[in-house]
Amino acid sequence: MGRRAHGRRLRRLVRTGVREHGRRPVRSARVLVRIRRRKRQRRMTTIAFIGLGVMGGPMAANLVTAGFTVTGYNRSPEKVERLVAAGGRGAGSVTEAVAGADVVITMLPDSPDVRAVILGDDGVDGVLAAAAAGTVVVDMSTIRPDVARELAAAGAERGVPVLDAPVSGGEQGAVDATLSIMAGGDESAFNQVLPVLEALGSTVVHMGPAGAGQTVKAANQLIVAGTLELVAEALVFLDAHGVDRERAVTVLGGGLAGSAVLDRKGPAMLARDFAPGFRVDLHHKDLGIVTAAAREAGVVVPAGALVAQLMASLRAQGHGSLDHSALLLLVEQLSRPRP
Ligand code: NAD
Repeated sequence: MGRRAHGRRLRRLVRTGVREHGRRPVRSARVLVRIRRRKRQRRMTTIAFIGLGVMGGPMAANLVTAGFTVTGYNRSPEKVERLVAAGGRGAGSVTEAVAGADVVITMLPDSPDVRAVILGDDGVDGVLAAAAAGTVVVDMSTIRPDVARELAAAGAERGVPVLDAPVSGGEQGAVDATLSIMAGGDESAFNQVLPVLEALGSTVVHMGPAGAGQTVKAANQLIVAGTLELVAEALVFLDAHGVDRERAVTVLGGGLAGSAVLDRKGPAMLARDFAPGFRVDLHHKDLGIVTAAAREAGVVVPAGALVAQLMASLRAQGHGSLDHSALLLLVEQLSRPRP
């Protein structure tokens, strides 16, 4: 192609919105300006990230990759060092991490942990005491909806919006930045932090007022636990009939019984690989949230209550640190003859 024809083709590609030409992206000057502005805005947005565990570690690293300035704090310092190695900054306390931050994200195990970190504990200042007015706090842990509402009210008194934005998608979703994020709280604060949330997940939805995100997350955990239990039962059932379970999982996955739970957890269950992932301890905590919230609303969740008991039994047997797919062990035990 001659140079003039090539130039004409490039201009046409830009005009028609096509962004790729060969291996080099074709972008109009306006698009380039927008991309540069967005990168500058990200560099200028400082994020404090508290809780760098299975989920928080890769999420904080993804924010660094997306161009944000990220300062991490975790109770065990080796996890902070991992973030620093990934290009983030490290802090030695909550107050040090929060100083100068525009956005504070918490990704902690349970309601008491989040309450202690945000409100302070035992004479130690928390996020709200250290944050300047206008800072937006986003709690992405899974906690009780009533605690999320309490934290939002405490933040509002200080001019610091506190959003609840729990996630679904597991460790892989955190690593791949494809989490599903369900948010509750002040809508303008949500819009303010949307570019940050979009760097962590592929589905980001504002659900309503404070606590609404946690309510949706509780429903998510109800569905996941129930499905896992039925997958475990199906695997034991298939095995008892001598059926090839790998092939069965493939064909089941293509029909109405197919699900993300079957796709992602089925092969690991067949391989008896129960390394977490999502710990039984955490799902036990979440099913406590589900059953309490159902009681509070005056509705019944009989299958949810049953699977909550099964998860509790798995934990009582000492399997709290295994992946929740270890429900298979319990179902096998229920069908095994006594020794
Ligand atoms: P995790 O236990 O791996 O990580 C929590 C981190 O918080 C740990 O590194 C711990 O040292 C740190 N921490 C605890 N208390 C602290 C404090 N006071 N100050 C500073 N750091 C503190 O847990 P996780 O799997 O990353 O889960 C975090 C939250 O996300 C939980 O609420 C969980 O229910 C939810 N969640 C987990 C998954 C998953 O697949 N693991 C998926 C969705 C949601």
